Amino acid sequence: MMHVSTTVSEWLERRAALGGRLIGVVPTMGALHHGHASLVERCRRENDVVVVTLFVNPTQFNDPADLKRYPRTMDADLDLLDLLGTDEVFAPEATALYPNGYVFKVVAESLTREMEGRHRPGFFDGVMTVVLKLLNVIRADRAYFGEKDFQQWKVLHAMAADLFVPTEIIRCPTVRAANGLAASSRNALLSAEGWERAAVIYRSLTTASSADEARAVLEDAGLRVDYVEEHWGRRFAAAYLEGIRLIDNVPLENSECSSVST
Ligand code: AMP
Repeated sequence: MMHVSTTVSEWLERRAALGGRLIGVVPTMGALHHGHASLVERCRRENDVVVVTLFVNPTQFNDPADLKRYPRTMDADLDLLDLLGTDEVFAPEATALYPNGYVFKVVAESLTREMEGRHRPGFFDGVMTVVLKLLNVIRADRAYFGEKDFQQWKVLHAMAADLFVPTEIIRCPTVRAANGLAASSRNALLSAEGWERAAVIYRSLTTASSADEARAVLEDAGLRVDYVEEHWGRRFAAAYLEGIRLIDNVPLENSECSSVST
């Protein structure tokens, strides 16, 4: 039976009982979709115990309106996680993870200056801080992250290596709808028409011959573009549609074989 812990001490008791079994964790902010499910499925295949964390981390939101409207679907999330064979859920309140407020934070001198880091000040500090807390609390052998947030994976992978975090940081391919749109919790905030229009992000990333051309395609489609940039052999975009900020990235050579779901 899946067990839900809401405090650190409750989880640590559960953790102590797991002994030396192989433990995988999938950190999420809830509002689960096919993308999260693919991470949980992989975690299920590769570990004895599957832990999923559900926590909308306030310190990574630089826009209070974005935090307020972030979708929260706890009951549906727990049903899905149960179906996927999750053993343990850790769903703390903010005060459980930040008992003394936001006093200590992880800050990086590289990797975080461009793209998400430049356009969302403080975002990576919040992400690195909360993930380090979660990795220290969960004490898993492996943690699973999605390529949809490739820069985030890159930053967390480097952080874990540099701080000698014993958990292996694993990256998983991006799950997309049939129209190419990357699954995202924020997609739920789009209208049906907006959801169709958002397919232009993947299309522009994969078909344009340059980052500038992809930006022009997005702007012609009526999106407000934060950036289109190329790093690490990939092309990245962040743009607003119906006031919702969406991000995606693809490898530059045609070698992506990401899963497709509807
Ligand atoms: P989030 O709940 O948005 O913080 O995402 C939790 C984890 O799921 C992160 O590692 C994301 O990169 C990953 N994820 C989100 N969307 C997708 C997707 N469409 N495909 C694969 N992984 C995803």
